[in-house]
Amino acid sequence: MKPTHRLEFAIHYSLFTIENSQFQNDVTKPIQLIRAVKGTRDLLPSETSVWQRVEEEARRVLASYNFHEIRTPVLEPTELFARSVGTDTDIVTKEMYTFQDRGEESLTLRPEATASVVRAYVEHSLYNSDRLQKLYYLGPMFRRERPQKGRYRQFYQIGAEVLGSESPTVDVEVLEMLFAYLGRLGLQDFRLLLNSVGCGRCRAEYVKGLRRALEDVKAQMCADCQRRAETNPLRVFDCKVEADQPIIARLPVILDHLCLECRQHFSSVTQGLDERQLRYEVTPRLVRGLDYYTRTTFEITSGALGAQNSVLGGGRYDGLSEILGGPPTPGFGFAIGEDRLVLAVESCGAGPANGQAVEVYLIWMGHEALKPAAKLARRLRSEGRRVELPYDLTKLKKAMGIANKLNARFAVIIGEAELASGRYQVKDMSTGQQEEVEPDRMAGFLRDRLAPGEGDGVGSLSR
Ligand code: ATP
Ligand code: MG
Repeated sequence: MKPTHRLEFAIHYSLFTIENSQFQNDVTKPIQLIRAVKGTRDLLPSETSVWQRVEEEARRVLASYNFHEIRTPVLEPTELFARSVGTDTDIVTKEMYTFQDRGEESLTLRPEATASVVRAYVEHSLYNSDRLQKLYYLGPMFRRERPQKGRYRQFYQIGAEVLGSESPTVDVEVLEMLFAYLGRLGLQDFRLLLNSVGCGRCRAEYVKGLRRALEDVKAQMCADCQRRAETNPLRVFDCKVEADQPIIARLPVILDHLCLECRQHFSSVTQGLDERQLRYEVTPRLVRGLDYYTRTTFEITSGALGAQNSVLGGGRYDGLSEILGGPPTPGFGFAIGEDRLVLAVESCGAGPANGQAVEVYLIWMGHEALKPAAKLARRLRSEGRRVELPYDLTKLKKAMGIANKLNARFAVIIGEAELASGRYQVKDMSTGQQEEVEPDRMAGFLRDRLAPGEGDGVGSLSR
């Protein structure tokens, strides 16, 4: 060691001991456990298998309708949501995680992703490559809400957007896709609630009337509604205060005030749904909690959930691109609350089959067996088999116990005798039957015995 290095080492060492002794002193007090932030959760392996299936099925259905994935950042300029979701919405006024980025711009953890997708669409001029863009995303969203079952501060959405077509057939096809998806997940007890919130023109007229109607009753309403009545009357329909509901039930509804074009658009949507035999319930007070919606709005609720029964929501947003500085581009999309969807899937018993259990537990007896065992493990894994190779030498009885506990389909035993004969023992853990198989024949042997689909990492909930 050079002298300078020795000096550095000495300094580091003394710093370490000082820190360590302080640490030692602190240890006399009980160590405070560090827990996940309120409203956020760890999803443990026992839970993530359902999540993976929900996501795999989503990707499969979305791909079959020719949607392509887009990944946008979790952090966005605050202005993006203020301008698109709307400054009077609950999301923007109460629920966003917003911070000043070390004195620079104001940033926000995305509370939803439609605004981000449209920002990306405009920023990268995606409209130049293809007029019609069918995009989907999966990922975490952040809203500072009161945590409860089905409502978290970090939650996950699976969403899709169709940009570039005003056609009501878009609305119908996307809803059909959602029915197909929920059906594949084994969800039965769900309801599609449907409404139209009109376009910029007819809604402006309607809002004038709504404002007048609110003049007479707002004094009896909650503080939020009194403010909404002034700033953004449509948001009154987001109110969850029990005492306000009878008043809200008597307010005029937008569905009665649609212009001719919006009325025709809505009736084409309902007609399309009828033709495809997709059941819906027209719900005139469904406005959705975001300002950018135009025309069709919808929500799907599930009877398998409790109070937070809304599994997904969406609608049209024909003006959003322009709001964000892009060309006029009609849009239609939805966001599924994945946390709630997982709860619903679990509660209707359509959880995962044991599709992720170990297929082969590879027992090596003696150090000379490790090398061929590792070679076989690598070979089988490259074929997509789920293989567990113990890290430490274990007695046969104990190793078999572990294979059992892991629910392994087969245990392969490689010991001195097997190395000498060049044939490994393979035990079928469900029948107890044992056979001798040469290592080169092992992959084929397993292929013949394991059901199709096992080993490809993809299971199906509908099976
Ligand atoms: P809610 O009325 O339940 O607050 P929302 O109208 O705010 O829902 P959207 O913004 O439309 O919800 O988001 C679509 C879906 O995302 C919802 O239907 C729901 O399943 C899910 N979702 C929204 N907020 C949360 C949350 N805090 N925790 C878990 N899931 C959520
Ligand atoms: Mg909400």
